Amino acid sequence: MTQQVSPLSLGTIPVTYTVEDRVGVLTIDNPPVNASSAAVRAGLMSGLEVAEADDEVDAIVLIGASANFVSGSDLREFSGPVPEPQLPSVIAAIEASAKPVVAALSGATLGGGFELALGCDGRIALAGGVVGLPEITLGMIPGAGGTQRPLRLVGPARTLELVTSGERLPVEQAHREGLIDEVVTGSLRAQAIRFARALRGKRILRNLPVRGADPGEVEQVATTALRRAARPQTVAAVGAILMGGSAPADRAFQHERAEFNRLRNGTESSALRHLFFARRAALKANRPALPRELKSVGVVGAGTMGAGIARAFVEAGVPVVLVDQQRQAAAAAAERLQRTYQGMVTRGRLTESDAQHHLSLLTAGTTIRDLEETDLVVEAVYEDLEVKQTVLRQLETVLRPHVPLATNTSYLDVNEIAAAVARPTRVLGMHFFSPAHRAAVLEIVRGEKTSTEALDVALTAAKVLEKMPILAGVCDGFIGNRIYNAYRRQCELMLEEGALPQQVDAALTEFGFAMGPFAVSDMSGLDIAWRMRKSKAGARDPRERYPDVADALCELGRFGQKTGDGWYHYEPGSRTPHPDSTVEALIEQSSQRKAITRAAFTSQGIVTRALVTMANEAALLLVDKIADRPSDIDLMLTLGYGFPTHEGGITHWVGRQDRRFLEHELDALAARTGHGFTKGELDLLRS
Ligand code: NAD
Repeated sequence: MTQQVSPLSLGTIPVTYTVEDRVGVLTIDNPPVNASSAAVRAGLMSGLEVAEADDEVDAIVLIGASANFVSGSDLREFSGPVPEPQLPSVIAAIEASAKPVVAALSGATLGGGFELALGCDGRIALAGGVVGLPEITLGMIPGAGGTQRPLRLVGPARTLELVTSGERLPVEQAHREGLIDEVVTGSLRAQAIRFARALRGKRILRNLPVRGADPGEVEQVATTALRRAARPQTVAAVGAILMGGSAPADRAFQHERAEFNRLRNGTESSALRHLFFARRAALKANRPALPRELKSVGVVGAGTMGAGIARAFVEAGVPVVLVDQQRQAAAAAAERLQRTYQGMVTRGRLTESDAQHHLSLLTAGTTIRDLEETDLVVEAVYEDLEVKQTVLRQLETVLRPHVPLATNTSYLDVNEIAAAVARPTRVLGMHFFSPAHRAAVLEIVRGEKTSTEALDVALTAAKVLEKMPILAGVCDGFIGNRIYNAYRRQCELMLEEGALPQQVDAALTEFGFAMGPFAVSDMSGLDIAWRMRKSKAGARDPRERYPDVADALCELGRFGQKTGDGWYHYEPGSRTPHPDSTVEALIEQSSQRKAITRAAFTSQGIVTRALVTMANEAALLLVDKIADRPSDIDLMLTLGYGFPTHEGGITHWVGRQDRRFLEHELDALAARTGHGFTKGELDLLRS
């Protein structure tokens, strides 16, 4: 018999209680994603109490009101003391209940949501959902048994993998591994009630023994995890999991909670949470006003970038027509891609059918007319205003009038490029980073006249490509390259004043950059920037300091890795940089010529000067409205320029510094840089 009582409202709390077939159902309703907030936890506590006291009820089900069970913890609670009741108390109440409690999972059940589920006596899941413990990606470890309860189900080696990778597991796989009891289709509520009624008493995971493990395997998984990311949270996860295998449960659970709190309050977790919110804000703001159709894309220029952009689209399932002025270039790019895929198939990194599918989406065209039917065209021809303008004019005669024309220019003025065509509203920048198929960020440049429609197509493309869209206004270098150039220039000025490339690179990689600026220059080649500097030489203000060592290197034919020499020396076939006395001599000569007395730099001095430079340029960008919000700049630098994620980006770094210290350093920077330096308002970066 089904007995339905009207939902008992638990105050203003987002949990309701109903009874059906002698099962008390607690429905969690905390839109939009059912995050576990203090109100949800309080609701669960009251609901459990009501169900416990209800003589008409033998078992309890926890279920989400809409798509998700509990998607995870509300991260906004993590920046201060977590409000009561905290998750471990809710789970303790579930364990203390005399009645079996079942978690009915749907959608994404992550972090605290999955810990809550693991605290129940049984888990039933709707097919198609995912579970996981992604705390590590936010600089923490799970803090409510996530490192401990899985030990009882899948053992230490697998728990280590789950916790240190933060992977999302389809519920079907979690079921096969024993983390979930049943996967169902149809009505989750009805099946959860059936499942709860069939349960024979409690099954408290905390009270079960840890599953045995092969110590060699555990050691291997731990070593791999630490090698992949030797971060404090990985070390803490390994420690907590190993302790779970040896210490009494109470001690291991307490240790986990203490480590969770220690990391949560640390700088790395705060930085990673900042980037999490930054991503959310950018994705929310940069949604197309209307989603646009992207049935096929055209790419003009089959060089490094054009070929990479074409690859990015075909790997996202979008057909591409690639053309180049050189008749064979597009076909050659397609052949190169085929060879790349062949190698990946051989190494087991791609399936033959995926390779074939990607290649079937790529058409090597021979003329711009072949782009006639495409919904978006990206040009990646030479970085030359006239060449780009000519290409856009040609495209205009071929394409349907509403199709956007995107330029991949790195530095040219998008408004000037747009001025070449009859309808500049259709022109915008889509600045892909190299390698285009892998880069996580896409800088979308709004021209003065760019239409919402053109912008929507570019934003749709970013979504399809799974790249973070960051909107930028028009200026020299947009957001990313403008900050990077200011930084690189300042690093070159430090050379004149007494530093050496290897010291600068070492200091900045020690801070956490993926590479130092001089190693980066050698990797990308010094010649392109040299050509650009020469073309702009006439416009240079002679009162401004001009670091000239890079020019001297180029005059000697030292273009970086590709010539075996640049800021460093490279042995044939090797990418390992070796400091070079020729370079040191050139640097010293430059200092002498300019009558600069060389003085030693400390690593800290180098890092501070480089970061204050970045911060200053970021502040100028915000005043000029080139960037929409400070957190976009952090995303750009961490996703596109190797800025350490554990520092959260430049604006987050500024937020952690003492204001007077920063002002002092900024004044010193202005004095050392001399004429032409514009001071920004660093307070703008504090969000
Ligand atoms: P590239 O020299 O490798 O390729 C340019 C290609 O364009 C060549 O194959 C050339 O034949 C073709 N081309 C030139 N004029 C043409 C025309 N009129 N019609 C058709 N095809 C034409 O250059 P790249 O490194 O791929 O750079 C292309 C663009 O991307 C530039 O604007 C550059 O600033 C920008 N960009 C480069 C990078 C990078 O890391 N290389 C990164 C971001 C943006």
